[in-house]
Amino acid sequence: MSEQRTALLELIDKIEHMGQFQDRIDFPATIGQIWDVFLDDVRSLIDIEVCAFFVVDDASHEFILEYVYPHDRKKICEKEVDYQIECGIFSWIINRRQPALIPALAFEDGKSIVMLPLATIKRTLGVVMVKTPIKENSITQENIKLLTMLAKQYSLVLENTLLYERLKRKHKSLEKANGEIRLLSRKDSLTGCYNRGYLNEHLQHEIKRASRYHHPLSVALCDIDHFKRVNDSFGHLCGDMVLKEFVQRILSLIRSDMDWLARYGGEEFLLVLPETNFKNANRLAERLRKQISKKKFSWEGEKVSITASFGVTGIDKSRTLKDFSLEDLIEMADQYLYQAKNSGRDKVVSGPFDPEYCVKSNKKSK
Ligand code: GH3
Ligand code: MG
Ligand code: MG
Repeated sequence: MSEQRTALLELIDKIEHMGQFQDRIDFPATIGQIWDVFLDDVRSLIDIEVCAFFVVDDASHEFILEYVYPHDRKKICEKEVDYQIECGIFSWIINRRQPALIPALAFEDGKSIVMLPLATIKRTLGVVMVKTPIKENSITQENIKLLTMLAKQYSLVLENTLLYERLKRKHKSLEKANGEIRLLSRKDSLTGCYNRGYLNEHLQHEIKRASRYHHPLSVALCDIDHFKRVNDSFGHLCGDMVLKEFVQRILSLIRSDMDWLARYGGEEFLLVLPETNFKNANRLAERLRKQISKKKFSWEGEKVSITASFGVTGIDKSRTLKDFSLEDLIEMADQYLYQAKNSGRDKVVSGPFDPEYCVKSNKKSK
């Protein structure tokens, strides 16, 4: 009687332990962490030689071997399930949604295996295959019932985790798509360089950073000379092609990790050069100017040549300046560009940024 009582108490303990499966899992858990807890529980219920977990693949609806204990039994487990699928036992177990003790087909020692379908009311999640050294007739109903209980608990936690991981993946791909949309909304649709919106947002940041840390910063306002003539002589489509290739040419000659280019207006672009004083910016603009006038563009078998004028200005790292606006900086570059145009075009005119000058000229224009 007391032996029976002890056995009953042990059984109750086991049932209680199975019921607390969820409490042993941290949230959010990975599929691997849940598997480890499940495997420990299976081992506390029954001696095992091999235990394998097959998960249903969302896309192909096939059973994929996810985990196997011990690791070196992977091949034979896959073979076993292939055989079971071939002779229809596998789908019978899945449809029945009940565990079953069945003869092993791939394992050659003639022993049986316990198949535990993992399913919730809504869907089939996978299957667990347990191979035990216990002889078939010694596997008790109690063993099977406890394993069934455990598989049910495992299924619930697994479903939540799979759902959580799928949501996480969706969230990530949505974030990526949003990032791409955000980037597209900052780019000029014709040339692919940044647009005016991006310029307004980011140039002010660059100015703040440069003034706060006394770093140099330069800008070059660049305007294609007599661009109207390109349109008039070769057509608007040719003009578009020239604008696109002009941008590519400039982008290939600047530091891609630091410098950036924005379309300021029709055929006018602003090149922003952080960590660059106006003297070096002037040198770069000269190089760009030469490259632009040197290489002709091809359009329907004809050669199209252009030149461009540059107005360059910037602040030096030694200068301590109060915050100034991006309009001030561009206004100054525009003054130099005006001089470049007036002195015959295909020129670079540069000079240091002088906020006082801007204040004066703003006052003058009011
Ligand atoms: P300047 O040397 O004084 O700058 O002369 P310009 O002809 O370049 O200047 P103007 O401002 O007179 O003309 C600019 C031309 O640029 C007129 C306009 O049609 C053309 N343009 C502006 N945006 C585009 C565009 O996206 N595609 C094409 N094909 N042409 C454009
Ligand atoms: Mg022009
Ligand atoms: Mg212009």
